[in-house]
Amino acid sequence: MSPNTKLYEGKAKILYSTEDPQVLLTVYKDDATAFNAQKKGQIQGKGVINCTITSALLQMLEKNAIPTHYIDCPSSNQMRVKVVKIIPLEVVVRNIAAGSLCRQTGLPEGQILPKPLVEYYLKDDALGDPLLTRDRLFLLNIVTSEQLQILEEMALKINHHLQEFFTRCNITLVDFKLEFGTDSQDKILLADEISPDTCRLWDTTETDPKARVMDKDRFRKDLGDVESAYQRVQQRVLSVLGS
Ligand code: UDP
Repeated sequence: MSPNTKLYEGKAKILYSTEDPQVLLTVYKDDATAFNAQKKGQIQGKGVINCTITSALLQMLEKNAIPTHYIDCPSSNQMRVKVVKIIPLEVVVRNIAAGSLCRQTGLPEGQILPKPLVEYYLKDDALGDPLLTRDRLFLLNIVTSEQLQILEEMALKINHHLQEFFTRCNITLVDFKLEFGTDSQDKILLADEISPDTCRLWDTTETDPKARVMDKDRFRKDLGDVESAYQRVQQRVLSVLGS
């Protein structure tokens, strides 16, 4: 693999090789997509904001004994990460009913769940990222039962630490999506990003259901002020880190 080769361009990030075969460079873009890329746009400054927030949260999780792919940020929208083999799952953790959970079950938006819900969606745009059952996960040979147990435990621990952190930011962590990968020793590492693109974040200081939204739902639902909401998340994350 020669250095600086573009390996993959996703909806929000571009992945490059580096001079070290164990290290990749992720460049965060301002491009935004929703509804399986049917809606496209740009969120000014998003690349830098999501890279900054992801870097802060992955370092916080590492300090709490969660292994991640994070290495460092050589510039404000670039992150160096360890090479992993991505497990083709979107692991969603929910604390409060919103989004597809409400659409598919009829639960009212905002209902607090009795305990965090961990769900597994197949990472496959052509199939529309379907929700999988445990048996379908094994049928498709995506993970072993040991790996599934590790994923579940890691997802719940991550939720615990993120909830605690966002509470200090006056932000309610409604739900979020995680991706995991395996390293050359088959160890599972948290990968990808944790940002307003991949989390539902509600401003605890706002009661109005539209005003409280600080995440990609502002873009999905055309609520306006997308950039300023992302900036406010970044400011609060950085101020709590500095405190
Ligand atoms: N999510 C994501 N990428 C996806 C699908 C979902 O980051 O491809 C995040 C989303 O931002 C939310 C959580 O996962 O924080 C749960 O999303 P949901 O299943 O409710 O889907 P949606 O309503 O966004 O279609």
